[in-house]
Amino acid sequence: MYAERVVSGMRPTGALHLGHYHGVLLNWIKLQHEYPSLFFVADWHALTTQYDDPQHIHRNAMEMVVDWLAAGLDPNQATLFIQSRVPEHAELHLLLSMMTPLGWLERVPTYKDQQEKLSSKDLSTYGFLGYPLLQAADILIYRADRVPVGEDQIPHIEFAREIARRFNHLYGREPGFEDKAKEAVKKLGGKRARLYDELRTRFQQEGDREAVEQAHALLEEIQHLSVADRERLFGYLEGTGKMILAEPDALLTEASRMPGLDGAKMSKSYGNFIALREPADSVTKKVRSMPTDPARMRRTDPGDPQKCPVWQLHLIYSDDACRAWAQEGCRSAGIGCIECKQPIIDSILKEQGPMRERARYYQEDPNLVKNILADGCEKARDLARETMRDVREALGLDYS
Ligand code: ATP
Ligand code: MG
Repeated sequence: MYAERVVSGMRPTGALHLGHYHGVLLNWIKLQHEYPSLFFVADWHALTTQYDDPQHIHRNAMEMVVDWLAAGLDPNQATLFIQSRVPEHAELHLLLSMMTPLGWLERVPTYKDQQEKLSSKDLSTYGFLGYPLLQAADILIYRADRVPVGEDQIPHIEFAREIARRFNHLYGREPGFEDKAKEAVKKLGGKRARLYDELRTRFQQEGDREAVEQAHALLEEIQHLSVADRERLFGYLEGTGKMILAEPDALLTEASRMPGLDGAKMSKSYGNFIALREPADSVTKKVRSMPTDPARMRRTDPGDPQKCPVWQLHLIYSDDACRAWAQEGCRSAGIGCIECKQPIIDSILKEQGPMRERARYYQEDPNLVKNILADGCEKARDLARETMRDVREALGLDYS
């Protein structure tokens, strides 16, 4: 079985923005206290779109890790590392590529979307097509069951689940698995064996997840099973054979699609972002020049918050009282748009204060970040090696 574990990454493509913070980082910061967590700099993923200009990746990576630490990731709680320093990710990616149908990759919605959006780049490359597969390898290599990401990543996590399932289906079966599993069921003893069979049927015929959980509980409480039999019974239950790779789930925050200054998803490439450590005067200027409800041309025209990108930010930054004030003031033309924007500016600046402080601490001594990453890479690599041992064995490539 696999452990509860959190893993996620970001591409080092430049300074992080508030979309990364509210959409993902806040979740990372919470989860690091709840589960063993790994967070990585996806530098190979940055190369899929920046293969023609890789010189900035190193500096961007360091800046991004400073942003993470400034936001509140704690290197004593979470493991922070660099993807390319754990080459086992590449080995798993290669092995998975052998069994990945081309159609699965071509159908991932981001593939065509991104090609259209970044039309100035030639993205009809082997590496770019494989983007979601590399991401699947990043997750599966830690057998992580929880992946905190933004909404746009959901199809990629679903893809990783399908890859894990396919891998387990293809390679999770030892010779004579079915017979060995039936033998193991008998060893449970009459009453328990009957209950196990019943629960297994309920799951396999009706997809009843509760039956799986009950069966897990049943197996957990039996002491005399060998490790091998236990694994067979878990695998036989769900029809996967032996579970070598775990199927992950996406975890979202409330702002899993944080809007930018124009109301569209905040994104570096749309130029509608506020950086995590954007200077105060620039924050003020950007928010003040945000578009509002287009029907509200004059101060005396009433507006509709539902049509205003500023309202979207109130939903993230303001408490109930402030939201009521903004709604009422907008609809009645009681307040002007500049007034309405001020509490948001104040909240952003307040949120940024401690981050600037912490960032300064890490920037003053670049060795701090270097050491945190060196330590993290080593820890991550130990875990990745463990999985790769099982993967190679399942494929008969262990040569022992
Ligand atoms: P950008 O779109 O600004 O270039 P990115 O999407 O390229 O950023 P990634 O490394 O692909 O950066 O994404 C890092 C994480 O941040 C992903 O989990 C992604 O879903 C999340 N994310 C990025 N922008 C937002 C946003 N506006 N709201 C919520 N989550 C976001
Ligand atoms: Mg993205």
